[in-house]
Amino acid sequence: MAQRRIYMDHAATTPMRPEVVQAMLPFASEVFGNASSLHAFGREARAALEGARERVAGFLGARPEEIVFTSGGTESDNAALWGVAMARRDTHRHVVTSRIEHHAVLNACQFMEKLGFRVTYLPVDSGGMVDPEEVGRAIGPDTTLVSIMMANNEIGTLEPIETISRITRERGVPLHTDAVQACGSLPVDVVALGVDLLSLSGHKLYGPKGIGVLYVRRGTPLVPFLHGGEQETRRRGGTENVAAAVGLAMACELAAQDRTEESDRLKGLRDRLIRGVLAVIPDARLNGHEMLRLPGNASFSFEGADSQALLIRLDLAGIAASNGSACASGSPQPSHVLPAIGLPAGLTRSALRLSLGRSNDEAEVDFVIEELARAVEQSRRAGGVEGNVR
Ligand code: PLP
Repeated sequence: MAQRRIYMDHAATTPMRPEVVQAMLPFASEVFGNASSLHAFGREARAALEGARERVAGFLGARPEEIVFTSGGTESDNAALWGVAMARRDTHRHVVTSRIEHHAVLNACQFMEKLGFRVTYLPVDSGGMVDPEEVGRAIGPDTTLVSIMMANNEIGTLEPIETISRITRERGVPLHTDAVQACGSLPVDVVALGVDLLSLSGHKLYGPKGIGVLYVRRGTPLVPFLHGGEQETRRRGGTENVAAAVGLAMACELAAQDRTEESDRLKGLRDRLIRGVLAVIPDARLNGHEMLRLPGNASFSFEGADSQALLIRLDLAGIAASNGSACASGSPQPSHVLPAIGLPAGLTRSALRLSLGRSNDEAEVDFVIEELARAVEQSRRAGGVEGNVR
């Protein structure tokens, strides 16, 4: 009998929904024109691209001309930071961000430091929350941009973006938020949030990989990150990926259709998982904020166990989980998020993230609790330093 396979790594990536694949198919063959060409083939592609832009804009509460298609969350984050910083580099040389951002923001900031920018990396509390007042205190006369994520990819904590945006607006500093993890399961309305720039990625909300969006509020200064043709109204050079844009638009619409029901369902599963793990596994610890967390995120630490070993044991039982950041699952890179919320090495080394999605149900959650309990017990018995368990 084939082994049961359970996917609980939806924060790393999600499968495309069948409707998304269907919507994209014509653009792989018949509708192949270059959206910049003037002939009928090009016009057909252009119409599809602009239709997709309108639908994505509707999803975010934005205007179509404020939507820039990119290659994904990483490019959107880099383009936001770089774009604003370069546009105002003569007068503004300071960026404010947090210690728990995704590497797409943190490594871009570190690169900018090499170019002479100053960056303030704000601390977070033990639940992973940024204090809006600290954002206000960090802003100075030469602050060019504040970048704070909407939801953290490792521990799921939701940041107080609306409160932060009231402060940045008052101080006249543009605010960027990385909403890559939030977009599938939470309402994301750029006007309600009060942000000037926002990043979204297709493959986190059951859309295609290799496509993302940077929302740029009208009037926000921005230098292109990719220089080339005049695509995306001169904000991002390169022949547009029409198929992926159409797929992304479909994924956004599908996400919006049943977001409330699906988020409630995921919260139910998540809380069942959290309650079960904390009840069954001695000394299990929940990481991140107890209430203000993504509907599908459950992050734990198991003192005395080794997270690599847990991952391998779960994998052998057919369960896909993660120990590090969403895009680096399997990477031995230690987390920067867990130390930032004050976890000592023993709890960082034994961390495990389970991220729930459309494919999961209660029976799977119960099976995972059982298998995880077994895996933790075995890892602890082995001394938590097992190396390669095979
Ligand atoms: N930002 C966050 C919060 C993420 O979780 C990820 C991916 O995990 C990214 C950015 C990068 O997105 P992409 O994989 O589309 O480049």
